[in-house]
Amino acid sequence: MKFFFDYERKEVAEDYRSTQIYKAVYQRWLADFESITDLPKSLRSTLAGEWNIQLPRIHRRFDSVDGTRRYLIQLQDGELAETVYIPEEHRNTICISSQVGCALACTFCLTGQLGLTRHLTAGEIVAQAIVAQRDNLPWETRDDFNIVMMGMGEPLHNYDNVMKSLRILHDTQGLNMSMSRITLSTAGMLPAIEKLAEEPIIPNLAISLTGATNPKRDELMPINRKYPIEKLIEAVDRFPLKHRQRVTFEYVLMKGVTDAPEDARSLARLLKGMKAKVNLIPLNEAEELAYSRPSDAVVERFREILNDHHVDAFVRKNRGNDISAACGQLKKKWAS
Ligand code: SAH
Repeated sequence: MKFFFDYERKEVAEDYRSTQIYKAVYQRWLADFESITDLPKSLRSTLAGEWNIQLPRIHRRFDSVDGTRRYLIQLQDGELAETVYIPEEHRNTICISSQVGCALACTFCLTGQLGLTRHLTAGEIVAQAIVAQRDNLPWETRDDFNIVMMGMGEPLHNYDNVMKSLRILHDTQGLNMSMSRITLSTAGMLPAIEKLAEEPIIPNLAISLTGATNPKRDELMPINRKYPIEKLIEAVDRFPLKHRQRVTFEYVLMKGVTDAPEDARSLARLLKGMKAKVNLIPLNEAEELAYSRPSDAVVERFREILNDHHVDAFVRKNRGNDISAACGQLKKKWAS
């Protein structure tokens, strides 16, 4: 059976029928063909033999005291996709994964310790968003969420499936998500950033920097040895942005490693004149990691230095820590 969420509308059937089916699944939340009563009866049973329109099941859900929820979503081969729902007053966020595990091995990230198990398909990426949407949002506010591709994996390492998932999420007859509601985060896969810049639909871009010089970044993020920082910044500088749109740089603060005033000044120099903002992420600690989190005062000092150099910087609130849902903590913990 074909997994429906893997397919763009034009691949499903001829135009009129595929629009009916897309609307039924994505907009009316119908989960079996029998309920799609605007289709002829005989067609319904044919389609039911061909297409699987069931969402994958939630293997486990972990609820944080702060309202954040972490999901382990069961895929057809038994693998688990990890998804996080983060409620906020003005905007809810669904954080989705693009791979099971990750190949990039950043030294401060738990997902990096898993290695790569496999890419997720377009449908497995799309389905995560829908599962989290329907488990959290009532019908009246069902579209009140943004998506960040900041879960497990490096989205640009799974380029074709990620792009296809964006086209499916964007379809006006489906979820109809504007690209301004989706952010793709990358550790800096340079050729893919350049390719993304040429696409007809382009999400918001976030770059995980965490290291403002080559020696520092080489040590923390092996990908920097292949695509050094100055080349990365050049590519980001050429990346097409809409009026008032900015690129986000994520910077993980680790005590004695990335949190010195000199690091803040290097970062400010690097981003000078760019349409950028910085998200400072105080390290989420874990037993498996050799680093620790700086004090709030050090974090604040770092932010002030950036602001003094006219770089907008924000400290990311730490969410879902108690359920291993925070940045860098996704590693299928308590899967069984
Ligand atoms: N591979 C992509 C998508 C994952 S995003 C990327 O790197 O952008 C995950 C984010 O969590 C990254 O910005 C990363 O810098 C951050 N992160 C990883 N480990 C962390 C940790 N231990 N504490 C806080 N943030 C971490």
